[in-house]
Amino acid sequence: MDRVNRVVIVGGGPGGYESALVAAQLGAEVTVVDSDGVGGSAVLTDCVPSKTLIATAELMADMEEAAELGISFAGTAAADPLGPVGESGAGTVDLRRVNDRVKALALAQSADIERRLTRDGVRILRGRAHLDGVNKAVVAELADGGREELEADAVLVATGASPRTLPSAVPDGERILTWEQVYDLKEIPERLIVVGSGVTGAEFASAYNALGIDVVLVSSRDRVLPGEDADAAEVLEEVFKRRGMTVLSKSRMESVTRHGDRVTVTLTNGQTVEGSHCLLALGSVPNTGDLGLEEAGVNRDEAGFIKVDRVSRTSARGIYAAGDCTGILMLASVAAMQGRIAMWHFLGDAVSPLDLKTVSSNVFTAPEIATVGWSQNAVDAGEIHAEAVTLPLSGNARAKMQGVRDGFVKLFCRPGTGIVVGGVVVAPRASELIHPVAIAVSESLTADQLAHAFTVYPSMSGSIAEAARRLHRYNG
Ligand SMILES: Cc1cc2nc3c(=O)[nH]c(=O)nc-3n(C[C@H](O)[C@H](O)[C@H](O)COP(=O)(O)OP(=O)(O)OC[C@H]3O[C@@H](n4cnc5c(N)ncnc54)[C@H](O)[C@@H]3O)c2cc1C
Repeated sequence: MDRVNRVVIVGGGPGGYESALVAAQLGAEVTVVDSDGVGGSAVLTDCVPSKTLIATAELMADMEEAAELGISFAGTAAADPLGPVGESGAGTVDLRRVNDRVKALALAQSADIERRLTRDGVRILRGRAHLDGVNKAVVAELADGGREELEADAVLVATGASPRTLPSAVPDGERILTWEQVYDLKEIPERLIVVGSGVTGAEFASAYNALGIDVVLVSSRDRVLPGEDADAAEVLEEVFKRRGMTVLSKSRMESVTRHGDRVTVTLTNGQTVEGSHCLLALGSVPNTGDLGLEEAGVNRDEAGFIKVDRVSRTSARGIYAAGDCTGILMLASVAAMQGRIAMWHFLGDAVSPLDLKTVSSNVFTAPEIATVGWSQNAVDAGEIHAEAVTLPLSGNARAKMQGVRDGFVKLFCRPGTGIVVGGVVVAPRASELIHPVAIAVSESLTADQLAHAFTVYPSMSGSIAEAARRLHRYNG
């Protein structure tokens, strides 16, 4: 009988738990060691909680627009006997209840994943693990005080990343907060300063603004979302300003200090911004410091991220890494795919190397910004030769009916073949609308093929087909 492969996974986030499911499916004996709860930061502090908060914010933003669609609300903040906690034109928000819901949902999701892993025969250990030298051995310091030495035929490191902080801006968990700490807020911030206008900063600024909070967004660059499509970022910044958010561009934070119930953000130009709370969204640092990586022969880059190839192999034989600790593309979906690829590779199943050009991603602001494939930046830089068409949503019948004014569909295709190589959708629920474009990109469909599929009339996706039609070249 063949010997069963032993796989030890350090970290139970999407990189870890998705690879555990694949390894178990392929017959391996799998142990996952996790220090903070199955599901990882993705489920407990980052992705799931923020999108749950955003679900409430989305409803508020929709209600703000309701008057245009002929709806007015009888109840007002003043009529609420409990008094308003947070207030927008459309109603009141009880942040305690919102946060309780967020935390309960995250815990329930973690429990769901744990049940699934257990059902599939994966052994879960609660504790901190590190590699023990070059022999693929892992030591788990268990949360209940025990210690277990685990021998493995393959190890997968998926320990994730943590919010970056600075000595001049130290979170106190009350008024100066990381994104992991906002769900403990009991009171609605009177004025929230969000430092950092990348995806995380923009998402929280958008959400809290929709909840009726006075938000100041401090951005070191000349526009929000410097890493995203510039046209999309411009639309978003306009919407932010129209909704009353203060956006300070080219403003680099130097320090954040607290005096009683006030916080002061000092900028490098000497200007100060006052608020009641500050949320730091300064990016992430990898959790790779105390894992014994060096001793095990696992190389990291200068920022501490584990170096991997496209099938998730590290520099040490039999040791793989996946997810945020590799810094490849910090998304739950990518972490999960890297983890699955690692296990398919190790256990000899069919595997294709990771292809970042087919990853669809989304910024969960209002409106959302979804992208896939080659970007405008790459086209402008001449990295790929592509034609582009941009279609504003303002001409879309469904958008008009729903009172949607902002947004567009942009498609890129190769000039000769017409093959779709990328796209951007800026719209409410763009995360759902990007899928046909993602299919076109990953399956190398032409703009004509994308255009020929029926869309529902009226529908937002009609604009995707229309944009594809505009890329048609008559060769007759
Ligand atoms: C605010 C925010 C919102 C986000 N929203 C989205 C989104 O909408 N969509 C999306 O795709 N991505 C989103 N992301 C990114 C996503 O959360 C990460 O890409 C994802 O969590 C990476 O998964 P992972 O498995 O690498 O690590 P993690 O989810 O961080 O899990 C790592 C786990 O390993 C544990 N661990 C660490 N060290 C050890 C050790 N020594 N021993 C044992 N266990 C250890 C940690 O405690 C943790 O449980 C968001 C990120 C942030 C910050």
